[in-house]
Amino acid sequence: MKILSADYVLPISAEPITDGAVAIEGGEIIAVGKRDEIILQYPDAGHENFGKAAILPGFVNCHSHLEITASRGALDDVEHDFRSWLLRLNDLRSAMSDAEIEAAAIAGANEGARAGVTCFGDIGRCGKAGLEALKKVGLRGVVFQETEFSPDDRTADDEIQRLADKFFELRETATDLVEVGLSPHSPYTVSQRLFEKIAEFAAMENINISIHAAESAEERALVMDDSGFFIEVYKKFGFEWNSPRCSSVEFLERTGILQTKPLLAHCVTVSDSDIELIRASGSSIAHCPKSNAKFGHGYAPFEKFLDSGIAVGLGSDSVASNNVCDLLEESRFAALAARNRPGNKRFISPKEMLETATLGGAKALRLDDRIGTLEPGKQADIAVVSLTNIAQQPVNEIHAALVFASNARDVVITLVAGEEIYRDGTFWK
Ligand SMILES: [Zn+2]
Repeated sequence: MKILSADYVLPISAEPITDGAVAIEGGEIIAVGKRDEIILQYPDAGHENFGKAAILPGFVNCHSHLEITASRGALDDVEHDFRSWLLRLNDLRSAMSDAEIEAAAIAGANEGARAGVTCFGDIGRCGKAGLEALKKVGLRGVVFQETEFSPDDRTADDEIQRLADKFFELRETATDLVEVGLSPHSPYTVSQRLFEKIAEFAAMENINISIHAAESAEERALVMDDSGFFIEVYKKFGFEWNSPRCSSVEFLERTGILQTKPLLAHCVTVSDSDIELIRASGSSIAHCPKSNAKFGHGYAPFEKFLDSGIAVGLGSDSVASNNVCDLLEESRFAALAARNRPGNKRFISPKEMLETATLGGAKALRLDDRIGTLEPGKQADIAVVSLTNIAQQPVNEIHAALVFASNARDVVITLVAGEEIYRDGTFWK
């Protein structure tokens, strides 16, 4: 048994505790409260006081692509255009060996551990690379096996078989910490028929689903108007494509996949009725504000998601479109961008941001029965953030100090299920 204490403990499920402590035993949190009281309650436990620091639930990065970590900064000289970026990424990815992809994924997982991220929702074409990286570094997560490029209804029967085989193979290697899901990539790369088949399969096997949805104007042009860049590509390569002529979210509902309560990444080009469809279906959202901004895709209506009661977590997306995995920086950017969005209704508070970066992500990945808050009975997934940097002084309000004046480099230790995986520059695994 051990006790971690600091000037601030943020349970997220309750108000911050000054001079607080968390008691941990067997991977679980057994008590959270005032330092003096916790020490009295467990006099034999080892105790470490972090002093000027904050203890909070580990960050949940609910949308990443660990396997393309090696492309960080490699695409930043492309013209300002999503199409060139996608094509270049594809070239870079095909030039990499399996071993290179696996090494990159491990580097990405380490970056997360260094940043206080304890859980990833990671999407992978290979699947295996992300899953093995999380296992190696000691992280928690859901790894979503992604579909291949498959916009043509005619190949859906073969695709579902291949995907199911990959899914079962990957699930063999799942652990208590790392689960396996599926990711039909997006409404612009997956045919209606394949979406329908994946929806049936997911319902039957009770599989977590994640989808890139309503991310760009190009996607919207394709599904709504049968126009734009993607339609040219599909014609050129002889794909048979039937535009649904509705919004991406309506399309997902029509195929039955929205009824599997997927985690939808981006949701930039969504209308109020799309948001209502997402809410009513019980689906969740991975909000990726920096990736959206880097591509110039626009602002997702973040405060509308929160106000409608949808579970919303934060996603860094790949480091090729961010360029870091830093949920404190992502939180700061999310709050600033939301306040600056034309037509925004209200200010997002730093408190809401920390909740989104922790509990919101846990709910979005359907893991909130285990993680996301510091409460007795939950897994001891914890980040300790130092508050000693001059740029954080004075700490007038702890949520503001963390969201608006801290970043991943202030994280000192990261624990998953009570086990320390990172401390002061050292990775233990
Ligand atoms: Zn993505």
